Amino acid sequence: MRRRIALIGSFATDWIRYNDYEYKESESGEIYIVPTAEAVFSMYNPFDVAEDLLIDLMRIGEQAIKAEGQATKRYNEELKNTILIFAKKYGLLGFISASVYNRNIIGDDSVMFIENNHIGKEKIMDGTKYVNLFIPLAEEGEIVIGEYKNSVYLGKSEDSPKFYGKRPVVMDLIFSRFYSEQVKWIIDFAKMIVSHFNQLLMYRNSSNYLVENVTIMAGQFHAEKIGFTINQLDKTTIAWQFDSLKTTIETIYAFAVTDEKILLNRCNHCGNVFIANSNREKYCNPACRNRANVKKSRSKKADQLEER
Ligand SMILES: [Zn+2]
Repeated sequence: MRRRIALIGSFATDWIRYNDYEYKESESGEIYIVPTAEAVFSMYNPFDVAEDLLIDLMRIGEQAIKAEGQATKRYNEELKNTILIFAKKYGLLGFISASVYNRNIIGDDSVMFIENNHIGKEKIMDGTKYVNLFIPLAEEGEIVIGEYKNSVYLGKSEDSPKFYGKRPVVMDLIFSRFYSEQVKWIIDFAKMIVSHFNQLLMYRNSSNYLVENVTIMAGQFHAEKIGFTINQLDKTTIAWQFDSLKTTIETIYAFAVTDEKILLNRCNHCGNVFIANSNREKYCNPACRNRANVKKSRSKKADQLEER
């Protein structure tokens, strides 16, 4: 049986992914991930792949944590590859929208950062400077921002989706082939989710001793711009409007760790995060359970041999 997180409602607006991404260095020496020149986009609903999306994101965080203490480059190469695969599967995270309080962003004089964003330590930044952080690789004329009859428009020299004011203008930019994100922002976010989960597991395992409600890593989640509509087809449903894939992942994570039927857990053998049907399920798959059992019986035999 496929394990599904109980997500109420649907994702109102699809997210974009390109079929190919590459790493590029900006003039300022930062490593960006960006769709390749020939990349083709497709739209998908993140809620349809919620479980894989969350677990794949957490894999980035785990690999990043593992790579930190390593002198060899092998772990970093592995990590870079994992991020590339993630981008091809789900697209970029939409940091330009998720990191500030502003709604449209494009055309704003300045932007105000949310706390604990993954971009930097500044609180306020010039609007143009901010937008340029996300299109450092675009050539002259590929993205044009202008004003027309008191409203801001964004022109792009390609045929990616446009929302004509139905969604914040910044979405037109995020869905463009010229939109890019720094690899370190993605890694930082993935590591935050993993650390949050590690703390959560620690508290979960000692919950018998907790006498008060504990907020785990306060101030990390800023889903300030989630909207929704109520839709009618055969039944009435909520359709969530997220401002970014990042906020979507945070929401999926929150649902996953609070779900009463399924449980986000860590495999007792390989350490991978997986979705368990109950607290008793300790291994991510039958192979891990078998290997763990073999290991157990081997160490038992070793103990017996020593005793002789
Ligand atoms: Zn396992």
